[in-house]
Amino acid sequence: MGRRDYRDDRHAMVRAQLERRGISDPRVLEAMSRVARHRFVPVNQRAFAHDDRPLPIGEGQTISQPYMVALMTQCLKVRGPERVLELGTGSGYQAAILAELAAEVYTVERHAGLSREAQDVLRSLGYGNLHFRVGDGTLGWPEEAPFDRILVTAGMPRVTDVLLDQLNDGGYLVAPVGSRSFQDLTVVERVGSEFREHTAGGCAFVPLVGEYGWEAGNSE
Ligand code: SAH
Repeated sequence: MGRRDYRDDRHAMVRAQLERRGISDPRVLEAMSRVARHRFVPVNQRAFAHDDRPLPIGEGQTISQPYMVALMTQCLKVRGPERVLELGTGSGYQAAILAELAAEVYTVERHAGLSREAQDVLRSLGYGNLHFRVGDGTLGWPEEAPFDRILVTAGMPRVTDVLLDQLNDGGYLVAPVGSRSFQDLTVVERVGSEFREHTAGGCAFVPLVGEYGWEAGNSE
């Protein structure tokens, strides 16, 4: 089984966990069928790579549940030409999904070790449209702003002007917003100077730790 490519596991994951629960954007479903999720999971977790839950990736952090990756990506409405900012590179899996769907992806991670591992995997998979930064993503990435889409993959206490100021007109920001342990997946659309907000369900992400996020806790 050394050459196992996990394709059947991915298709089963897409059918049972995504389609059946209402993920309908064909581009999202295709990207999640294509990207080798097992490559982003620590070797000792590989058997669980397609399970319906988040998995530990080290430093007290997690790769998100497949359904949550699909839901966030669908809410982001990526069509092709966009420049996307992701906060929380983690394993790099969500970044790979975005790189399949958008023109350029800028991803920020506060743990240098996680960023390095993600960069190694993503480079070996051949993505040429990903840009990495190690640092505090709550500041955004001002040198590369504005962005057409912003995706926050860690929980934040509130949506900040720092990030909204880096969002283009017509753009979307998707972020888990709430307490340290539970959040609402929050979608903000920028229409001129107006910001329209709705929520797309409850979720539980690790905290976004930084100047405009949470303070570092025991597990950070
Ligand atoms: N998108 C990731 C999920 C990562 S979990 C994936 O697909 O695997 C959230 C990540 O956010 C963690 O790796 C955590 O270290 C990172 N993080 C937390 N606070 C951050 C901050 N202020 N800036 C950048 N990354 C942050």
